[in-house]
Amino acid sequence: MAPTAPKPEILDAFEGAKGFMPADEGLALYAAAVEAGALGLPLLEVGTYCGRSTILLADAARATGVSAVTVDHHRGSEEQQPGWDYHDPETVDPVLGVMDTLPLFRRALHRAGLEDHVIAVVGRSPQVARVWNSPLGLVFVDGGHTDEHATADYEGWAPHVAEGGLLLIHDVFPDPEDEFTGQAPYRVYLRALASGAFTEVSATRSLRVLRRTGAGV
Ligand code: SAH
Ligand code: MG
Repeated sequence: MAPTAPKPEILDAFEGAKGFMPADEGLALYAAAVEAGALGLPLLEVGTYCGRSTILLADAARATGVSAVTVDHHRGSEEQQPGWDYHDPETVDPVLGVMDTLPLFRRALHRAGLEDHVIAVVGRSPQVARVWNSPLGLVFVDGGHTDEHATADYEGWAPHVAEGGLLLIHDVFPDPEDEFTGQAPYRVYLRALASGAFTEVSATRSLRVLRRTGAGV
């Protein structure tokens, strides 16, 4: 049986990586990923950043014998650009002067010993989704927070979630008072439920886990 919680060294690697996922949500992500991995299909993340959540997906993929795929253009979201609230100067390429989180991601994944379990795709989510053509056990949407990006992530990736597979959405804030970067992920979550293709399984802080239970995303 695959474990339902990551080993301490994996949790240490997760805590040591830059990123935007608190530990309780990380544990919920891991448990969902282990469950979905049992379907024998890949686990896909939109929004790698520096690999914090990827470490957990990758460890769940290892435990269940599947691959984790993670998609990011590595140039950062709007709110992570220089001058914005979520900017981290260490994510800027010193030569180009633009954000590049790919080296930090690769370092974190190497340190965690998980490189063999991850396929990193560098590109724009909708563009990657257009060439994707195989079923997924899990899709974790944690990319851009504008309506344009969040909607494109849903439309591009939700159709690939296999029957019985899981759709996870991060940064879902039903109360506008709680939101940090807008309510687009919340609107996508409502749309997924309204489609009739997904049923809610659990909520951990801003992480929603839905299961694909029907057609017509
Ligand atoms: N999952 C990460 C956080 C992701 S932050 C963690 O656990 O810490 C959001 C990421 O989405 C950023 O790295 C940004 O570059 C990426 N992103 C935003 N819009 C994107 C798009 N349209 N295509 C690909 N990546 C995108
Ligand atoms: Mg997030």
